Amino acid sequence: MSILGEKIIEMENKFRSLIIFEFQERFPDEDSCYQYLTELKWSTGFVCPNCGHTHYCNGKRKFDRQCTSCHRIASPTSGTLFHQLKFSVLKAFYIVYYVSTSKKGISSTELSRKLGLRQKTCWKFKVKVMKAMESSGNHKINGNAEVDETVIGGQEEGVVGRKNRKKKLVVFAIERNGKGVSRMYGKVIKQSSSKELGGFMKTTIDLNAQIKTDKWRGYSPLAKDFKNLSQVNSGEKGGNFPDLHRCIMGFKGWLRGMHHHVENLQAYIDEYCYRFNRSNMKEGIFDNLLTRMVKADPFPYKKPIII
Ligand SMILES: [Zn+2]
Repeated sequence: MSILGEKIIEMENKFRSLIIFEFQERFPDEDSCYQYLTELKWSTGFVCPNCGHTHYCNGKRKFDRQCTSCHRIASPTSGTLFHQLKFSVLKAFYIVYYVSTSKKGISSTELSRKLGLRQKTCWKFKVKVMKAMESSGNHKINGNAEVDETVIGGQEEGVVGRKNRKKKLVVFAIERNGKGVSRMYGKVIKQSSSKELGGFMKTTIDLNAQIKTDKWRGYSPLAKDFKNLSQVNSGEKGGNFPDLHRCIMGFKGWLRGMHHHVENLQAYIDEYCYRFNRSNMKEGIFDNLLTRMVKADPFPYKKPIII
């Protein structure tokens, strides 16, 4: 086992170390990570990113594949969210592991401490992992849905002043089932207009779902598209939407405890909802996230984000 691995096992309690032990058995070194990325990336065979040719020979570096027609070399990480990784792929796998399996997520500061990387390096890569946590739009809510908007940051957090750039409006949707809430999605919007609310709802909710919103006029025109939309009084402090408000409070509490700010809010919403929607699939969540990272386009890190 690597020194890094030993260090991490040391820091975990008995229960956690059992799980991380399985992870370390699967990925003891860099080669095992590259092997796994190779299998994911070319699971349906090799296709040259330059000319579309499907025959290859081995490249100079282990795991690289070279197109036999145009001679372009492709690596297991090129064209994925692991593209131009600036540190060891094994540590990158650890970050994906921690982000996907920690119940409440993990901050870049904590990742930095665990992996011996700079905090900023962890943050930059975590942004890519969060990118892979964006909703695919493939699993729309088709049962009972509830939708409402809320303000995050700004005055609510005790910041005064009219020009409060930190204040953001977010629309959330949940799916209710017999036992409680099975799914949750959210989006940062500029205003509560029919256009923005409808845009979000169309990407997250099936047109035939039973939808409940409050009496805000922005929802009224949407009944044209969503045949089963009903508007009810939200009640005192949103009392008629207890599950939805519990979910929103849960998100706000997590955001406050973890991040203390609303920069890059959409990425945090995506991360939270991704984990929330998969809280019952602990086993496959790491592989699911890795697959998404390999299938996703590269996401170059551009502007600095304060954390
Ligand atoms: Zn080619």
